[in-house]
Amino acid sequence: MKCVIAGAGVAGCILARALQRVHGLEVLCLEQVEASDHSESGTGLNIGPNAVRALLEHDPSLHAAVLARSLPWRAWRISLTSGRELFHLPLAQVADNDGIRIRWSELYAALRGEVSGLIRYGARVTGLGDASGGGGRLSLDYTQAGVSHRIDDIDLLVAGDGRYSLVRSHTVGPAAVRQHGVVIFRLLVPDTSGGLIDDYEQWFKGPNRLLAFRVPGEAVYIAGTFPIEPGAEISDEARTAASLRTRYTPDDGKASAQCRWLIDQITANVPSIHWARLQESPPLFTDPRGRVLFLGDAAHGMVPTLGQGATQAIEDACVAGQLLTRRLAAPAAAVPEVTAEFARLREARIRFVMDFSLEASDTIMAGADPVTGTLNKLEPPFLRKLSRLYRDITRV
Ligand SMILES: Cc1cc2nc3c(=O)[nH]c(=O)nc-3n(C[C@H](O)[C@H](O)[C@H](O)COP(=O)(O)OP(=O)(O)OC[C@H]3O[C@@H](n4cnc5c(N)ncnc54)[C@H](O)[C@@H]3O)c2cc1C
Repeated sequence: MKCVIAGAGVAGCILARALQRVHGLEVLCLEQVEASDHSESGTGLNIGPNAVRALLEHDPSLHAAVLARSLPWRAWRISLTSGRELFHLPLAQVADNDGIRIRWSELYAALRGEVSGLIRYGARVTGLGDASGGGGRLSLDYTQAGVSHRIDDIDLLVAGDGRYSLVRSHTVGPAAVRQHGVVIFRLLVPDTSGGLIDDYEQWFKGPNRLLAFRVPGEAVYIAGTFPIEPGAEISDEARTAASLRTRYTPDDGKASAQCRWLIDQITANVPSIHWARLQESPPLFTDPRGRVLFLGDAAHGMVPTLGQGATQAIEDACVAGQLLTRRLAAPAAAVPEVTAEFARLREARIRFVMDFSLEASDTIMAGADPVTGTLNKLEPPFLRKLSRLYRDITRV
């Protein structure tokens, strides 16, 4: 049996590592970037306690390798940019274990290092078709070093090729993207804060929000959001240092020491900022023929408010890893039954996570009142959902 994974990202690597142990299964992972290319991974991310738990249960040694490159995420604090604190939540109140803070390059190094023998780097998937031998199987085209190649008779194709998944658009058409009218920008800077920034924190001026935390390697990850018209492009003016300074500085000009440092970092590093907009795409786990399995962003683009993008890619891959290693080891494994089983296992969980991430975005939408919205997050209904998010991982 032959399995090809498109994309050696978060989900692709975790799944490849599990599948290499399946007797009789030929596994190959195609990755468009070169092994040394971290150009798309310059910033940091926080990974929720739920993914940390899923990885521990699924693959303890990979869990240890990732944790060794990270810092613990133990608390969530929200203040105004003036310094008034609104919310301080130790994660132990809603989770059984810590989350983590890590640099992208370190996460990819940990995940790819464990499966380097299975990854074909510099290999960009360009097209899909039916296998020459029929039987519902697939063929896949890719280019590597300017040369076109075809892999034929694929029993299972895994789309781990991220947010702009070519596999998804070639299988079922481009995902219908829903824009929410919020800009998100991110950067990573050396930690010169003198201890001002450490664990996960957010600061509001109206609906304009800053977010920051320290990551290993003496760096601080900073993200900012602000509303725009839904679907509108981010204007050049909005990207300027002057505009960014005004957005986050309190009207009386008196930002807290933390926010003064953050605003100075942002305005001094405008050319390094990575810009995006908050958007979602509807979840999809398999194709009508059941030969393609969609994981991570290829399956469900979600708003980043609760830091669940990579977190859910990890949950997906842990579930897929456990399910596929069990089912594909059977002599007459039927791939469409297995992909349908994966969809059943993940559907309700992903819908909950996407809906809750959007609900938690209330304070960053145009016209939002961050004080009322944040104080609501200390009430039992929100905390119960947070506990469900961090504790109720999918188990096979
Ligand atoms: C700057 C930034 C900060 C983020 N912060 C967070 C955070 O704090 N917490 C969180 O949980 N999530 C965060 N996210 C979201 C997170 O990045 C994604 O949800 C996550 O990476 C999805 O994992 P994945 O495995 O689906 O795809 P990815 O990790 O994106 O991997 C996809 C892989 O496929 C490869 N690929 C794509 N097309 C092809 C092709 N045609 N052929 C071959 N290979 C291909 C890509 O090169 C890439 O390696 C952040 C995203 C960004 C951009």
